Amino acid sequence: MLGSWLFLFYGCPYCFLFPLMSNCWYRFQRLVKQETVGMTMAGDDDGHWRCASCVKKWSWAAGGAHRLVVFGDWNEPRQVFENYQIAFIGEQSEVQNNKINWLKGCKAVETLAGRPITRESVLQMIETLNLETNRRLAQGGIQEVIRQTAEDPKSALEEANCRLVMEDERLSLRGPGCQFYAINPKLRDISVAAITAQELDALLDAAAAGLDVEKGPVATSNQRRIQGEVVSSPGFIRGRQLLSNL
Ligand SMILES: [Zn+2]
Repeated sequence: MLGSWLFLFYGCPYCFLFPLMSNCWYRFQRLVKQETVGMTMAGDDDGHWRCASCVKKWSWAAGGAHRLVVFGDWNEPRQVFENYQIAFIGEQSEVQNNKINWLKGCKAVETLAGRPITRESVLQMIETLNLETNRRLAQGGIQEVIRQTAEDPKSALEEANCRLVMEDERLSLRGPGCQFYAINPKLRDISVAAITAQELDALLDAAAAGLDVEKGPVATSNQRRIQGEVVSSPGFIRGRQLLSNL
């Protein structure tokens, strides 16, 4: 969630299911690895994510270009998400992926609202963003949203010589039978195209105007550079002008 009107989802490139909440995936870990706190976010050598429907492995190579962008108008009085569009992100440059990650960091800082960064406050932040995404898209009436039940990962676990990791329900699925909401872009047989790099930039800059990017992460020179580029972009400046006129 990069704003009240712009969302980005990871999805399964095999069954085209895009869970609304980031914890609606299975986390697999190789049996040889010890279970430790923080293992959910450990590197790819230690574990990986699996689709809760077809239980196939998510990889950047297969799924990176199949991330989904959803944008529209959030109607606050009616609590409805209107005039929305759904598109694949397509192949994006490292520069754009860095920008997306930086904006996610800004949203995280905003959601933490000054609380100290602890394991619990980060988990609460993730939960808040997930519930807010669910509220705006599932309850807000997106027609492509379906209710899904997590399948049994048992045979996939055996095949991959892995165990299921669930160190916190706010991070990954507990097991089969869990219910969750997901976007299936093929549900209505709509053709889902990929947006261009220029279109994505315009969306990101406009979303940035609604975030407190001045307080965004600036720990590295790369982050400071991205911040400088975002706040000087025409889309950001125009967005801030529109917001100041509201
Ligand atoms: Zn799948």
